[in-house]
Amino acid sequence: MTITSILISNVTLFTDPDSPLATNQWLLCEGDSIHSFGSMESIPDCPGAACIDGTDKLLMPGLINAHNHCAMTLFRGLADDLELGEWLNKHIFPAEAANVNKEMVYWCTKLAAAEMILSGTTTVADGYFYEDQAAQALLDSGMRAVPAQGIVDFPAPGVPDPSTNIDAVETFLTNWKNKDDRITPAVFAHSPYTCSPKTLQAAKALAVKHQVPFFIHIAENRHEQSIIVEPQGTSPIRHLAALDLLDNDTVLIHCVWLDDEDREIIKESGAGVVICPQSHLKLASGIARTSIMDTMKIPIGLGTDGSASNNSLDMFCEMDILAKTQKLWTLDATAMPAKRVLATATKNNAKILGLSMLGEIAPGFKADITLLDMNQPHLQPFYNSDALVYSGSGAAVETVIINGRIILRDCELLSFDLNECMTEVRKLAAPLGLL
Ligand SMILES: [Zn+2]
Repeated sequence: MTITSILISNVTLFTDPDSPLATNQWLLCEGDSIHSFGSMESIPDCPGAACIDGTDKLLMPGLINAHNHCAMTLFRGLADDLELGEWLNKHIFPAEAANVNKEMVYWCTKLAAAEMILSGTTTVADGYFYEDQAAQALLDSGMRAVPAQGIVDFPAPGVPDPSTNIDAVETFLTNWKNKDDRITPAVFAHSPYTCSPKTLQAAKALAVKHQVPFFIHIAENRHEQSIIVEPQGTSPIRHLAALDLLDNDTVLIHCVWLDDEDREIIKESGAGVVICPQSHLKLASGIARTSIMDTMKIPIGLGTDGSASNNSLDMFCEMDILAKTQKLWTLDATAMPAKRVLATATKNNAKILGLSMLGEIAPGFKADITLLDMNQPHLQPFYNSDALVYSGSGAAVETVIINGRIILRDCELLSFDLNECMTEVRKLAAPLGLL
């Protein structure tokens, strides 16, 4: 029998960062959406519903990871402690040229999905090559996803002739548009230093034509300006603005090295910004001035980036680091308070990705839900939701529902065979000298 409704009882609700926690609540999911919730005195009778006892559990919106290269789980720990340029050019690009194929992308993306689900993430924005396989792996995992086919102006995995890189993206978009409610295909131009102005404009035109998000790495490293091909402006952001690439559907990833004029241009354009603080720290890229942009009401999202530059996909860790790095550079403990950080990983990311019915617990919103086991030493006592940022951890995640389907129940992954996946990834890792 297909279960179409789920009733969770006796649970503590965290609906959104601006609302107080509510204890002794019930919540009903019908089909793929949240139907209603309320106090236990008014719990409805729902014969046929799957029942979850929420005693000692906290129910929150599933976390959204707005930037990842999922298949890079294969390269986790392969080249640590290196600066971005050396890490990318001497290690990651060669490793990708030698090891990325359809099989690798499928299994390594699925491994990333397992790590994300087990740590409470229900939606991911991915950007890589062989993105058909990434999209299939994410679909098979049970996650919701915004997979984006990567574009560079040199031979890439699956696209040996760079003159066909835009055609490859169009084929991907056509394959996945309207295929499944959980998959929103998109365009990912790697960066202005790997894509010419002509390529960037063609990629953006394709995103506009299909009305899908356009992602790009930008202003990640202080050396980036000097390596941009044919600079059109005096900064990486002004380069994109001069090419007319900035609008509501553009997602700017990193934005570490901006000046005041860049921030004004971004705000004026309506583009979203996704910060990956742990990757910025590990590659010594710098600390993005997130608190300034958030105060300016620029939409700020949060992502992990790929496993090779983080190396964790736990969004609870990412929130903690985001909050603390903002206090560090401002020398102001009130900068980027926990509630603002919680918004980045939930409703801000939903808005930036164009997924308006995600990121909050509210009637009519998609049933993408994470349940935490509060019987954990690191979560006791639990006075308010700030603890999710400062002492939260994916290790407390017990149950995950995505699109109204239970994907993780009592810490057991139900959507696919994780042991099979890890066996396949170990086989792929063996030639790289990994265990
Ligand atoms: Zn990235």
